[in-house]
Amino acid sequence: MLDTLCELIIDELKTLSAHRRAISSSSLHEALSGKADALNALISREHVGALQNGYIRILEELACYLAPLHRQKTVALIEDIRKATRLGELSSLLERIIRLLEQAYSDSLAKKETLEHLLLEVGNLLAELESESLALIEGTEQIQLANGRFTAFIQTEITELESATQSAEDVQAIREVLRARLHTIRTALEAKKAEDRAKKNTFESTIQNLHNNLKQMQSKVERSQKQKKLLEHEALQDPLTGIANRRVLERQIRKEIKQYRRGETLFSVIFIDIDDFKTINDTYGHRVGDKCLQSLVGRIKQVLREKDLVARYGGDEFVILLTDTARNTAHLVADKLASAISKTCFIYRDTEIQLSVSIGLTQVEENDYNPEEIIARADSALYEAKHQGRDCIVVS
Ligand code: GH3
Ligand code: MG
Repeated sequence: MLDTLCELIIDELKTLSAHRRAISSSSLHEALSGKADALNALISREHVGALQNGYIRILEELACYLAPLHRQKTVALIEDIRKATRLGELSSLLERIIRLLEQAYSDSLAKKETLEHLLLEVGNLLAELESESLALIEGTEQIQLANGRFTAFIQTEITELESATQSAEDVQAIREVLRARLHTIRTALEAKKAEDRAKKNTFESTIQNLHNNLKQMQSKVERSQKQKKLLEHEALQDPLTGIANRRVLERQIRKEIKQYRRGETLFSVIFIDIDDFKTINDTYGHRVGDKCLQSLVGRIKQVLREKDLVARYGGDEFVILLTDTARNTAHLVADKLASAISKTCFIYRDTEIQLSVSIGLTQVEENDYNPEEIIARADSALYEAKHQGRDCIVVS
């Protein structure tokens, strides 16, 4: 019953996330508290352990999707849940679970908002740039008009000067006409010079503004691109080990299925789960457990080819996608992986830790249409390996 309820709660959270519905206090209460209350009513005190496992499973399931800071908090919370002995303690821990999830959610929202804010700023700058460019073009047109008017004025003056000198009767009269006309032209020239100088200054400052705005916009675009990349990266990466998460794995398997259905290549999936990992955590602490998970990934990568994909599927579960690989070859790879992990100790500071893994593997089959089916088959084979006593490989 507890398992079913846990699945229900996990599904509830996945649904909230898949539908991009806000994980708010009320929706979380609905998802967790409501069900936990129902549980409390149903189970007796002896079932505290079962409830603890339920909470821990929920948190482990979510931990892979959280940023490092929240993941650390999750690990601490799991430790406290383990220490709890009474139902009352567990319900106050439930409040902490809810707060943690709310915080993680609002942090991711804040990051998204920063990006949106940046994009908005870039948009505003673009609008400013557009209007400044338009003003500049208009300014140029006005200058051309003013220059045209000035040229026409000078031409008129010259024509008038010509006809005045022709009609003048003596040198003195010509001199008078010349003096008067030249004075008018000089005054006009000076006015034009002053006007041009003023326009040139406006022009230069507009160009300088444009230049500054462009620079600002460039740096904002760069910042928003970085922020976008970071968000995309975080959404696809397991924060502890740096490898792909479940989302990337499923996407990649979906692609492989398409290729397989087009009659191209086969592929296999390997499901790995560390044996008795809880004991490692209980004996050496979570930090050492974390280091083991990181080193294990290093060892897995050494066995795999560049084109294979290893993803963290859950707490101590890893799934590998071997492209262009049939069942038999995948079995050889699984053998190599098992011995790379179990033949040598993991050393953290002065502690030597022996790890073994159980492995389930499968190959894509004719009736496979989605990643979940293939992963579920590899998971069943893994379950069988655990059932057979662990530290072994079962092929499905
Ligand atoms: P089994 O052989 O049946 O797999 O036994 P197990 O103890 O490994 O049990 P299981 O796989 O069900 O539990 C996985 C454990 O992994 C539970 C949890 O304490 C631990 N774990 C999950 N995520 C993390 C993590 O991020 N860091 C550490 N240190 N431990 C984790
Ligand atoms: Mg395990």
